[in-house]
Amino acid sequence: MLRRAGAFPRVSIDTGKSLIKFCNSCGAEVTHRIPDGDSLLRAVCDACGTIHYQNPKIVVGCLPAHGDRILICKRAIEPRYGLWTLPAGFMENNESASEGAAREALEEANARVEIEDLYTVYSIPHISQVYMMFRARLLDTDVSPGVESLEVKLVREGEIPWDQLAFAMVKRTLEHYLEDRKRGSFTPRFGDIRPPNR
Ligand SMILES: [Zn+2]
Repeated sequence: MLRRAGAFPRVSIDTGKSLIKFCNSCGAEVTHRIPDGDSLLRAVCDACGTIHYQNPKIVVGCLPAHGDRILICKRAIEPRYGLWTLPAGFMENNESASEGAAREALEEANARVEIEDLYTVYSIPHISQVYMMFRARLLDTDVSPGVESLEVKLVREGEIPWDQLAFAMVKRTLEHYLEDRKRGSFTPRFGDIRPPNR
């Protein structure tokens, strides 16, 4: 996940302000101002009138389970190279959230999954991202690392590398899943992740 530098919103993490310099419609230099009728600073092209709205990115992923084991992936890319994650990545145009989640499992772990239900939704306001994680059934255990993974494996509860997880959303999703599995029912959850967590 988070693999393409160009997919990051082009806004300053410190100020939240747009980093766009040039209009992608006509190439003119943009100005940063609040357009009439708006309340936020935007990159505005005075040459052609385009307003470059920037909105959060959606990251979709899943927790693929096979019996009492969960599929996790060791990241072969920055950020958090070498740490463990659940398959997830930026949603593409023209796909649904659940299709994207299944696609990421296939890309990162050559894993075929059946998406079950939406499970966790986390907003990460300081980097303008929203994670949507689904519960999924791993259809078979013939998994192997995709290009974005160093290693993939199926772990039982006692084998989860808690101190080597890549992201707060992975830790929280796994914790909820294990609690819910013990209770025997799964409850969707949402939350916000703020610095210094991410
Ligand atoms: Zn323009």
